[in-house]
Formats: sequence, structure tokens, C-alpha cells
Amino acid sequence: MNHLSKNDLSEDDLLKSDLSKNGLPKDDLPKGIIFVISAPSGTGKTTLCKMLAAEFTDLKLSVSYTTRAIRPGETDGKSYNFVSNEVFERMIANNEFIEWANVFGNKYGTPVKSVLHKPSYDTLLEIDVQGAEKIRKYYDEIHKLFNLVRIFIKPPSEEALIERLKKRGEIKEEELKRRLEAANYEIEKSRFYNYTVTNNILEKAYSKLRSIIIAERCKNVFL
Ligand code: ADP
Ligand code: 5GP
Repeated sequence: MNHLSKNDLSEDDLLKSDLSKNGLPKDDLPKGIIFVISAPSGTGKTTLCKMLAAEFTDLKLSVSYTTRAIRPGETDGKSYNFVSNEVFERMIANNEFIEWANVFGNKYGTPVKSVLHKPSYDTLLEIDVQGAEKIRKYYDEIHKLFNLVRIFIKPPSEEALIERLKKRGEIKEEELKRRLEAANYEIEKSRFYNYTVTNNILEKAYSKLRSIIIAERCKNVFL
């Protein structure tokens, strides 16, 4: 596993970041690779991440907290930790998130404990573009002292995205419109990610995604 020396990191460097204030102490920086995966809602990100988890059993999938209602087929504690707004607000106040964001009127957050593994696990964070941007800022502020790899999954077309959003469950016309607008905004941000994978044929997209994981694990970060 690659990790970098953090000996020359000053306390000031760490305090510059909101995330470090939110409880990522210097000695607890992630040891493994943090893979961030973002995609417009309905693209197939959950499907692809489940495939990764089945093949790479040593990859830890972070379970986020959310205030949104549970959907059919989801499991509390596995898909998400479903909590009330009150509990979420308390967690924010207690600095329990390394990042959190408002997405489609609900709050979503990544718990600090997801990335603070004592052993060197690689971790997968399935988060939106706002959360990915917060983590990238933190990473830059602390001089890239852990390994961060950001992957964007794109839908092949707007038509395909509409079809998948409908396939996932009942969706109101207004909600569909809102998700499509958000999708365009998110796709615009894909250029800031290290990789972009288009999820057209599922098996092909998965093949590219797994290649990225394998290649990143072989990379010499000091070069
Ligand atoms: P997300 O997590 O990005 O919101 P999901 O993984 O829940 O998306 O997928 C949304 C729907 O699209 C699901 O019904 C899933 O089975 C389907 N799906 C995922 N990938 C593909 C693909 N490549 N082709 C067709 N349908 C897909
Ligand atoms: P959904 O409600 O469809 O499961 O997710 C909606 C959006 O919230 C997706 O883009 C998903 O990636 C994002 N999301 C899920 N968990 C988190 C999280 O912990 N933080 C952030 N910032 N976004 C999240």
C-alpha cells in the first residue's frame, strides 16, 4: 500500500482545513487509497460499486448517513444509515462527518470513522460532486498526504438516464426534471476527476472501473 511521509506537515497546515477541524487528526490520516466515485443519480453507481465490493473484498465501502426516506430494496445500516434531521444536525455539531452536503433537499454525510482505519484498507466513498470537491480541497491543503483517486461515472445519454431513473422506482415528473438538471451540472464537473467512465454496457463499464482500481494499487506515488 502506498503512503506518504507526513513528517514535515505543520499544525497550521492541518488547521487550515475544515475537514481537519472535523476530526482528522494528523496521525490518523487515511493509510490506504481513498477512491471517490460520483455520478448523476440513476447512472448506475450503486450497481457498479456493489460489483466492486463483490470482487475486491478488501475494499471498504463507506456507509453514509442520510436524512432521506428509505427506498424499497434498501437496508438500513447497509445502503445508508437512515437518520432524522435532528440526529444528523447533532452529528454535524459533534464533527462526526469528514464532509456532508445537501442533495435534492436531503442531507448526506460521510462519517469520519469511514476513513480512519488503523490497518491500511482502501476505502470507497460513493458521494456527490460537492462532497468530492470538499475532499479534494482538503487533500490539496494537506499537500496530498494521502492517496485520493476520483472517478466519475457518466450516463451514456439523457434518454438512458431517464429510463434508469424510472426503472429504479416511482418518480414524479418534477423530481425527474430536478435530477436531470443536476445531472447536467454534475457532468460539467467531471473534468475535475482523475477518471471518467461511461456506463453504457454494464460489463464494459465495470471492466474499466476494475482496471482503474488495479492500476492505482500498483502505482508508485513518489514518481
Ligand atoms: P445510482 O446509484 O447511480 O443512482 P443505480 O445503480 O441504482 O444508480 O442504477 C439505476 C438503475 O439503472 C437500476 O435499475 C440499475 O439496475 C440500472 N442500470 C445500472 N447500470 C446499467 C446499465 N449499464 N445499463 C442498463 N441499466 C443499468
Ligand atoms: P441517492 O438518494 O440517489 O442514494 O443519492 C443521491 C446523491 O447523494 C448521490 O449523488 C450520492 O452519491 C450522494 N451521496 C450519497 N452519500 C453521500 C455522502 O455521504 N456525501 C455526499 N456529499 N453525497 C452523498
